[in-house]
Amino acid sequence: LEFYDTQQKNNGFDFEYEQSGGLLILKSEEEKKSALELVGRQKKRSLELFYISTGEVQRIEPYFENDNISGAVYCPEEGRIEPFKVLTEIMSLLNQRGVKIIPRTEVSSFSIERGHIREVHTSNGSVKAEKVVLATGSWTREMAKKMGIDVPVFYHRGMAFVTIPVERCINNVIVSGGFLLKKKMPKKTVGLAVAQHSNGSIIIGQANDEGIQYSRDVSLRGILGIAHNFQKYFPSLRNLDVLRSWAGNTTYTEDGRCAFGYSSKIGNLFIAAGLKGAFSSALGAGRMAADIIYSGKYFPQIENLNPER
Ligand SMILES: Cc1cc2nc3c(=O)[nH]c(=O)nc-3n(C[C@H](O)[C@H](O)[C@H](O)COP(=O)(O)OP(=O)(O)OC[C@H]3O[C@@H](n4cnc5c(N)ncnc54)[C@H](O)[C@@H]3O)c2cc1C
Repeated sequence: LEFYDTQQKNNGFDFEYEQSGGLLILKSEEEKKSALELVGRQKKRSLELFYISTGEVQRIEPYFENDNISGAVYCPEEGRIEPFKVLTEIMSLLNQRGVKIIPRTEVSSFSIERGHIREVHTSNGSVKAEKVVLATGSWTREMAKKMGIDVPVFYHRGMAFVTIPVERCINNVIVSGGFLLKKKMPKKTVGLAVAQHSNGSIIIGQANDEGIQYSRDVSLRGILGIAHNFQKYFPSLRNLDVLRSWAGNTTYTEDGRCAFGYSSKIGNLFIAAGLKGAFSSALGAGRMAADIIYSGKYFPQIENLNPER
């Protein structure tokens, strides 16, 4: 949400966005306190966001049956995007603007002289570099090491599953608010993340286990954790048939803030990593990075995101 300011309503990209509304479920009074602060901050940015009671949650989500919560934050503007469609649309737009995308190419090393990257060496040859953006998700720390710097971005393995299509029973994008608490990220977590696709499938997540680089295997602990947690909130949907499950490494930082901005050690290196729900913040973060790199624009809100902290 901190990137919302720069998002400028889809950032000029004309991709399909289904506005459904979003609910942030607050599991404790502590989460409620942080959520109210968040509502205050976002209101200043004219983002429509309200605190609603448990009764109101049940009114807008009839299958939600858990009284043991401290209400929720409701955002009517929130919605769903289809990541594959958005990616292909972004790629074709970049192509039209003359950006060359070189797929299946591994960056292996860098030539660094006097604190500047001069060349990036890849499996497809070398590229002279005026500016380099490091946005390699869970590989960021490994890549930064090759440049002799430490960027404390860690990763865990996130898991979710998808059900067979059913009649509409979930209206909003629903997530639980564990991330609101400024606590050190535990290695294993289970939280609520639910949305129903327009084709009827329900996407249910999310469990996190310790990350294993290059592994996309789900764990039994993760899958059972997701199922048990989902039933706590939606008991009458417990017999839904699961179609498939998936896992992928997602990044986090110990203080919950992403690593975003110029490196303090390598002059022409810009780092954009550790954006937890990166898909939703990618367009805003990309816009902001472009404004900084090409126009030298200053954003006070990134001062505490120093990548090498
Ligand atoms: C189960 C699950 C559910 C999720 N749900 C959501 C959601 O609902 N909303 C949301 O916003 N996010 C969600 N996420 C998180 C989101 O998918 C990630 O945060 C996002 O994909 C990270 O994007 P990224 O570009 O930072 O990193 P990545 O997508 O990991 O991209 C990094 C890229 O760097 C490349 N790379 C690495 N090393 C090299 C190298 N040496 N040379 C060249 N290329 C290299 C990799 O191949 C990769 O393509 C979910 C994740 C999971 C696992």
